[in-house]
Amino acid sequence: MSKYRPVIGLEIHVQLNTRTKLFCRCLNEYAPDEPNKNICPFCTGQPGALPLLNKEAVRKAIEFGVAVGATIPEKTRWDRKNYFYPDLPAGYQISQYDNPIVEGGLIEFFVEDKDNGTFEAGSVELTRAHLEADAAKLQHVGSKTYVDFNRSAAPLIEIVTEPVLHSSAQAMAFVNELQLLVRRLGISDADMEKGQMRFDCNLSLQNEDQQKNDELPPYRTETKNINSVRSLGRAIEYEIKRQGKMLDEGETPKQETRGWKDDQNKSESQRSKEDAMDYRYFPEPDLKILEISREEIPQLNNLPELPSTQRKRYLELGLSQQIVNTFVVQDELSSFFDKVLEIKSIHSKAKDKNLTLSLANVLSGALLAASSKNEITINEIIDEKNFFEMVELFDEDKINNKGVQTIIDELVKGDQKDIHKIIENKQLIQVSDTNALGEIVDQVIKENPKVVEEYKSGKVQVIGFLIGQCMKASKGTGNPKVFKVLLSQKLK
Ligand code: ADP
Ligand code: MG
Ligand code: ZN
Repeated sequence: MSKYRPVIGLEIHVQLNTRTKLFCRCLNEYAPDEPNKNICPFCTGQPGALPLLNKEAVRKAIEFGVAVGATIPEKTRWDRKNYFYPDLPAGYQISQYDNPIVEGGLIEFFVEDKDNGTFEAGSVELTRAHLEADAAKLQHVGSKTYVDFNRSAAPLIEIVTEPVLHSSAQAMAFVNELQLLVRRLGISDADMEKGQMRFDCNLSLQNEDQQKNDELPPYRTETKNINSVRSLGRAIEYEIKRQGKMLDEGETPKQETRGWKDDQNKSESQRSKEDAMDYRYFPEPDLKILEISREEIPQLNNLPELPSTQRKRYLELGLSQQIVNTFVVQDELSSFFDKVLEIKSIHSKAKDKNLTLSLANVLSGALLAASSKNEITINEIIDEKNFFEMVELFDEDKINNKGVQTIIDELVKGDQKDIHKIIENKQLIQVSDTNALGEIVDQVIKENPKVVEEYKSGKVQVIGFLIGQCMKASKGTGNPKVFKVLLSQKLK
């Protein structure tokens, strides 16, 4: 048991990608270069302007709830959260207090240990998620401050977790998974650079007694204004250090709200923590209680496949966790792979497990590398059908690794898109005929007496060098496995 154990609960704002805003018909559009482009009396806080609920936002919030296995109540209520700030001219925000649209739920995630390539599974219980309208955006220029209402009344879901995270690595892995999930569902673009996903981080440190008794510390701080995953990690590390030092000195950290200063890599105290009383929440008089009929709630299998489901499906195919993770976090790769699997499923080798693994290996290896190196998409290099046929030939030992690489290089050049033509032109069909290869092996043995001597005196790993020489002599067309067998026979 270590002296202190961090306890972390997150509040995450995710902007829904609806066509229009949550309570008015203004476009919900990211337009930083055109401030106040999409505004109306409601979203600029004019007295008497009435809210008009956006059904698309409600639907997307419900989809989120279904995806995380939450309860969607039959009735959900809107509440006014009252406070003054220049980005909120109405003096209140329409939110949901004690009757949110999403109750409970769970998100699973994996923390990658980059040093040894392992993945540790974790999960976070959600307390709730509620819908609320965003505030406007203030822009400080010199001594002046401007207000841009484009974002005002944009739809947010605020997702609140239970205090169950215990490290910055876990918190970061969790929010990455959350981003993946909302993007997969198509309910948010979750682009942090555009402020479409933002974090508040609650943190306290349990001493040894509290750890033993599974008790929460009697205080916590809330660090607000965290706008990226990296900053979330830094804000957590900063707060762990700050609180640890205070506890070491016999002090209990104050319950307070702190603001994260990204440019300074630190947080500053803003105010002692307000409680719900200070906001004078009351039911929003301009909106009815929202009734959600059970028919409005989609079935899980009518939603896009969840990242967690996809992960399990790939693991069951026998793919390594490393490859599974590479695929799941990149839509381009997972949808390419799924189409390839579909081609395989109607093929005579539908049940061939090794072929599946080869397909995954070549996709996550040589093909992905070529795509990143040349900054082109995988689909621009090769289509699923050609890819399948190429890997099939590889799996049947008709072409070798080098042949695969040559095909990909040729495809990247772009003159020839038919892999069979490339194989023909470049003579990539691998020779496995022992008579033909035997001659090459004899030649290589003759030309490398020193290495052969080393091999015979017990340094067997030099066989790799000899295979390489054989490959070279065969201009890459020889089957390295056959070379290996022949060499070991002839050098006995
Ligand atoms: P409030 O209503 O004041 O926002 P909540 O009880 O709803 O407070 O908690 C808000 C967030 O604080 C949640 O994410 C929760 O997990 C987290 N939290 C609560 N207690 C602690 C604690 N002792 N340490 C860390 N986080 C906590
Ligand atoms: Mg709160
Ligand atoms: Zn408006």
